[in-house]
Formats: sequence, C-alpha cells, structure tokens
Amino acid sequence: MINNKKISKFAISIVKELQEKNFQAYLVGGCVRDLLCGLEPKDFDIATNATPEQVRKIFKASRIIGKRFKLVHIFNRSELIEVATFRSGEDSSNIGSLVKDQSGKILRDNIWGTLEEDTYRRDFTVNALYFCPITQKIKDHNDGIKHIHEKKIVSIGDPQKRFSEDPVRSLRAIRFSNKLNFKIDQEIKAAIYDKGGLLSSISNARLFDEFCKIFLNGIAEKNFNKLTTFGLNKYLIGATPNVNKFTNNLIIEALRNTDKRIFNNQSVTPGFLIAALLWPQLIEKSNQNGDINLRKFFRSMDGILRRQQKLTAIPRKFHTYIKDIWVLQLKLHSRIGKQPYKTLKHPRFRAAYDFLLIREKANGQDKELGKWWTSFQKNDDKIKKSLISDLNERKKEESFKKFGFSEELR
Ligand code: ATP
Ligand code: MG
Repeated sequence: MINNKKISKFAISIVKELQEKNFQAYLVGGCVRDLLCGLEPKDFDIATNATPEQVRKIFKASRIIGKRFKLVHIFNRSELIEVATFRSGEDSSNIGSLVKDQSGKILRDNIWGTLEEDTYRRDFTVNALYFCPITQKIKDHNDGIKHIHEKKIVSIGDPQKRFSEDPVRSLRAIRFSNKLNFKIDQEIKAAIYDKGGLLSSISNARLFDEFCKIFLNGIAEKNFNKLTTFGLNKYLIGATPNVNKFTNNLIIEALRNTDKRIFNNQSVTPGFLIAALLWPQLIEKSNQNGDINLRKFFRSMDGILRRQQKLTAIPRKFHTYIKDIWVLQLKLHSRIGKQPYKTLKHPRFRAAYDFLLIREKANGQDKELGKWWTSFQKNDDKIKKSLISDLNERKKEESFKKFGFSEELR
C-alpha cells in the first residue's frame, strides 16, 4: 500500500482542507501511479468536485490558470500543487458540449462532472487512480491497478478517438512506457501510427513543455529512440536536411550527456540541448567547400532558431544562450594571443567547452582541442602562457585560416 510519508505534507493538507469543507478530494494521476510503481513522484496533483472558483476562495495563496483547461495552482514557499475539478468529458447526454475542431481535437474542456466521469477523460488507465491519503483507499474505475501489475499502458476508451482528441497523448504513451518500463498495447501502437501526424496541429508552447518532459527526464536517449521508431521526432526537433554520421552521433551524444548529468544531479537546461541538436543545421548552412564560412554562420543562426520555434516555442531567454554556445565554438578554435583568456572569461565558456567535448566525441577526430582547453582552464598563468606558445606553427595557422570542422561537414 501507499506510505503517506512519501507524499508531500502540503498536498495532504490541501486534501484535508477540501474534505473538511465537504468537498471530495483525492491525489490523482502521476503521483499515485509512481507511488504504486515504487518511484518517487515528481509532483502531486489533486482532483476535487470543488470548482476552480471555490478552490481559489479556500486557499489564499492560489491562482486560477488556463483557459482551455482551467486549473488552480496552490503554493507554499517551496511547492506548487495543481488542483483540477472533476470533468465529465463527453457522453451521449452532453454530446457536442466539448469544443472541438474538425479533426476531433478538443479545444476546450471545462464541463464539470463526477469522479467517475473524470476517470474517463484521463488518458491511460494507470493515470486514472484516485487516492485518499486519509482513508488510504484507491478508486480505480478502469483496471489501472491491474495494468500496473501487468506492466501495460492501456488507453481509456478507443485510442484512435482519444489520440485525435489530443494528439499529445501519443507522446505521453511513449514517455510513460519508457519511464515505467511498461509495454504499449497494440491498439495504442496503431493509434500512434495513425494519429501521430496530428501533432503538427499542437501549439508550439505545448510542444516545448512536452519536449522538456521527454528530453530532460533522465531517459532522453531511450525516448528519442522510441520516438524514432514511431516517426515522431520530427514534431519536436527540426530535421537536418542532409543527415550524416556526425549528425546522428552528435544527437545521441548530446542526449546521453543530458541523461548522465541528470543521473549525477547536475543542472540541465533545454538551451544547451537545443544548441546541440540544431548545430548540424548551422554548420551545414555555413559550409563552404568543407570549411565554415563565417558570414553564412552568423547569418544562419536566427533563421535556424526561427525554424525550430515553429515546432517548439523556445523561451526568449534561451536564444542568446544558444547563440553564445554556437559562436564560442568558433572562438574555442582560435588560440592566439589574448583570445583564449577572453574566451575563458565568457559567462558561457563552461557550456561551450562541454559542447566542444560532445562534438569531439561525435566527430571521431583527435581530441587535441578539447584536451588543450581542459588543461588551459585548470592551470595557472605561467602554464597558460606556455600552453599558448607551445602550440606549433601548423596549429596556429589552422586556427587562423581554417576551423578544422571538416569531419563535421562531410
Ligand atoms: P508526470 O507528471 O510524471 O509527467 P502525470 O501522469 O502526472 O505524469 P501530468 O501531465 O502531470 O502527468 O497530468 C496529471 C494527470 O492528468 C495525468 O496522470 C492524467 O490522468 C491527466 N492528464 C494529463 N494530461 C492529459 C491528457 N493530455 N489527456 C488526458 N489526460 C491527461
Ligand atoms: Mg504530474
């Protein structure tokens, strides 16, 4: 059974408070699923029959968010709990009351309902478990517990219909099956193949959120590979026109690096990953006879970001970050005079250096440059000086005239 010690005290206090005010309230969704699977929940969601306005009135530190799907966020100093009102979705009695587009996609869903009705509008059976921390009872109307034991992702209702209503469910099925090591059942696989294309109608803001959930969750490589099987990466990452071995290697190395950092509790940012994923496009656009044309390089950066922006809305603050990492790649190649000192002082040096190491892993070239920077940054001034003067003439020439990107431009 579920141990309340693993649940946020704040979340439990919200459930209690709602129940004391004579509302129904349960923990629901990912947190119940994860607790039953022995995983640590990322966040705690609550479902209740109180309307957003009623919830808002009970909790001072709260805010109603969303239009398509109204929710209440309740905060304390360190946590944010999402409270959703039971929704009825659509059935024979209220057919047509959900706002949908021609493909069947739900545009708005704010029709309140009962707990039982609420279970049917959720995506997968394992996500439709309602847990009361006070009685320790679970409400399970769709065999979610059975499917957890059987390690299966099963859609609630016909997946063809459910994935048309909300195409993001295709991505969610893949993400949950990888995270939990559950199988996706046949019907869902067919629906992903049939309805995956509808992802092109999803807003770039929502796809950016999903991008982060898929690639910044510690199993990015595994998710990327499964998305490739279903042909869905193209809705998240703009394709490089001429994919070569370096492009494939670079993507995998960048994802592996992200996974490793999360495993080691190091920080990760979508900016770094996007800089890496889009790099092959940038050098392809700047390619002139196997070398980088600087004018093309600088001119292409914004266009590449704009193209990606159509898929996933990259928040503004990451744009400069991404471009800094790109431009610093060129600077890292130039090791003359005072330049290395300037490069080292750049606030994005560390990220750029990390990316250089990833490029070197991916391009299979000798790793002289990365090693040089590794020792340049950790040594004192005297050694720094000698590192610059020790570079033989050939290398100086190269870094002046040629950026040595030939392996990446093949
Ligand atoms: P995690 O937080 O680990 O990504 P989660 O299952 O909690 O997983 P959330 O996006 O936090 O996912 O959503 C909470 C719950 O809301 C889900 O468990 C599911 O029941 C329901 N839900 C979320 N998104 C959808 C959707 N697109 N379609 C149907 N139900 C959804
Ligand atoms: Mg959640």
